[in-house]
Amino acid sequence: MELDTRAVHVINEPFQEGSWPLSVPLVQSSAFAFSSADELAEAMAGPDGRYVYSRRGNPTVRALEQTLAGLEGGAGAIAFASGMGAISGVLLALLKPGDRVVAQRCLYGGTYAVLSDLAARYGIHVTYISGDDTEEFEAAARHPATRLLVLETIANPTGQVPELPGLLAAARRTGVTSVVDNSLASPVLCRPLELGADVVVHSTTKYLSGHSDVLGGAAVFADDALRRAVWPRTVELGACADPFAAWLTLRGIPTLPLRMRAHCAGAAALAERLAARPDVTAVHYPWLAGHPSYAIARKVLAGGGGGLLSFELAGGREAGRAFIEGVRVAKLALSLGGVESLVTHPASTSHRELDAEALAAAGIAPGLVRMSVGIEDVEDLWADIQQALDWG
Ligand SMILES: *Cc1c(COP(=O)(O)O)cnc(C)c1O
Repeated sequence: MELDTRAVHVINEPFQEGSWPLSVPLVQSSAFAFSSADELAEAMAGPDGRYVYSRRGNPTVRALEQTLAGLEGGAGAIAFASGMGAISGVLLALLKPGDRVVAQRCLYGGTYAVLSDLAARYGIHVTYISGDDTEEFEAAARHPATRLLVLETIANPTGQVPELPGLLAAARRTGVTSVVDNSLASPVLCRPLELGADVVVHSTTKYLSGHSDVLGGAAVFADDALRRAVWPRTVELGACADPFAAWLTLRGIPTLPLRMRAHCAGAAALAERLAARPDVTAVHYPWLAGHPSYAIARKVLAGGGGGLLSFELAGGREAGRAFIEGVRVAKLALSLGGVESLVTHPASTSHRELDAEALAAAGIAPGLVRMSVGIEDVEDLWADIQQALDWG
């Protein structure tokens, strides 16, 4: 079945003989009772037995895991408390001291922080590559201790789309496990497992839940043996999904394909209009002709460039700050992927401590504004952007 259909018919376990609820039941229980010691002991053996304790498994959480595995085309999934829970859980489960990781240079800040920490404190070596060149990966992966390749389908805020087919095939050939953060594309635009990835990770906080009301994460595995190997480590870590968070995420998933189409259409229209303004010196959106990833984005993303775009204002730091304080429809907030449009300006928020030189070294233009385009009417968003630019 097509993704639009699979998203609506989320996985729901049998509830009662002959009738069952259309909405997945929220099983808000920490533990489950048994009448037989043997059955309880047996249930504790692995990830797929009867429910014992909700850190190990819960019916609502399992419905989310099976739904996500279905959407990504994976053999199974593990849900986490947040995207960072999923990323930390997968990295900690798969790496040991002395291992080497090859990672895309433009990574989500939290992922970069975990890799830096693992490198500084656990003797793991990280080599950064551009992500645009398969041979660069092959050279980096020549070392026999290379264990993982870490990529993102669409990077933030550059909109870079790495050379996924070539890199994932090369990782397969060289026996390196590949992990792709698919949060910004969602399974609507790209399913990295179908391109050869071993693990897909998500911040379900973003497009999958889609309503800015829940934190969550997930890892989806191409091979069920890998999921079963990772599962005990994640039970130890304890960054498990809460049933209510899983329920809210399941509440968002049926409309994911519709929302994604609206995010993509809005972002593409705004990117083109912004690029035509003289006070905007650059627009970064992978679906815009001229973006460095344009060709690969058209190949690996199905039908849109996502909902996140960034642009540089000629007026620099001052203009960026005035813009994010001047918008009325869009809100000044971190995060992305929700139904409402959000804007942020790194040089006056997350990166305000950096002087001009340090900003340049981090590759962040002083007038760079990031916008997560929501599903509002695009003319209202454009009017809002124009008044904020003219006012600033
Ligand atoms: C937000 C985000 C994360 C972290 O997810 P949380 O749910 O905030 O922990 C990881 N990767 C990407 C690409 C993200 O956008």
